[in-house]
Amino acid sequence: MPESPPGIHHVTCITGDVQKNVDFYVGVLGLRFIKKTVNFDVPDTYHLYFADYLGTPGTAMTFFGWPHLPWGPQGTGQVLTVAFAVPEGSLGAWSQRLSRAGLEVEPVRRFGAEALMLRDPDQIELALVGDARDDRWVPWAESPVPEAEQIRGFHSITLNLRQAEPSARFLTETFGFVQDDTDGARTRYRTGAGGPGALVDVLESPAGRQGEETTGTVHHVAWRARDDAHELDWRESLVTAGRSVTPVIERKYFRSIYFREPGGVLFEIATDQPGFTVDEPPEALGSALQLPPQYEDRRENLKFNLPPIVVPTVEKLTSGGAV
Ligand code: ZN
Repeated sequence: MPESPPGIHHVTCITGDVQKNVDFYVGVLGLRFIKKTVNFDVPDTYHLYFADYLGTPGTAMTFFGWPHLPWGPQGTGQVLTVAFAVPEGSLGAWSQRLSRAGLEVEPVRRFGAEALMLRDPDQIELALVGDARDDRWVPWAESPVPEAEQIRGFHSITLNLRQAEPSARFLTETFGFVQDDTDGARTRYRTGAGGPGALVDVLESPAGRQGEETTGTVHHVAWRARDDAHELDWRESLVTAGRSVTPVIERKYFRSIYFREPGGVLFEIATDQPGFTVDEPPEALGSALQLPPQYEDRRENLKFNLPPIVVPTVEKLTSGGAV
């Protein structure tokens, strides 16, 4: 078996309203809007990326802007919760900040860590877990959230499954994860060195309704590959284990393979290279519509047809007093 993925690379969800989405992830959660591009398979729709200053692997929350889809609640065979890591002492400040923004926040304690549960504008369930590490995270100086409180990247994701056992076996016997701990109905698995950013919780919901591809749901989770060779090793290993895996697909910012784990959740493996500065310098990330080469000849048409997006700035937020 190849070396297990070092952790989460990115998480991709579906939003029905790109402007509300940007207002929330930048203006409330304080992530940097690092990339405005299109869905490479549905190029007349947005793919938006929010992350730390550079889009370090393990920090990018991304969205397909698909307003044509109906809204539906998350179901089984999907990611239930996306948890972000924040410094342990910052949860009080977060609670106040989120309340000021008019959000309902529920404090919980899971696996010994304090966390706040909340929902984004599409009703996707999020958590801020007071358990973070700073080793690869790059702060964004212009964030509306002070550096000491900023989101450090992902903490974990929760899979909601009709049957936990086949996925648990896949994670530990095929994908290199190690069972960590249980907390009530949840079982935690770790990959790589474990800890924040390298955790997946499995929740079994035998009577749960099957999830569908709707706005308000998580589309897939991507796991990190250290490089192309690591990704190819995983592809071969997964195919040998009987998974149906796509060929390597060029995603401009990373190279990817996709497959479904036994519970139906779409997994991706994405390379750490080349990263989000491949088409914009660090200081300009997210400032212009970026297209892959195959769609450059459609740029004017796409710019005309895609809805405009206004990225909130600290000045606007302060003067508007919205958060
Ligand atoms: Zn992806």
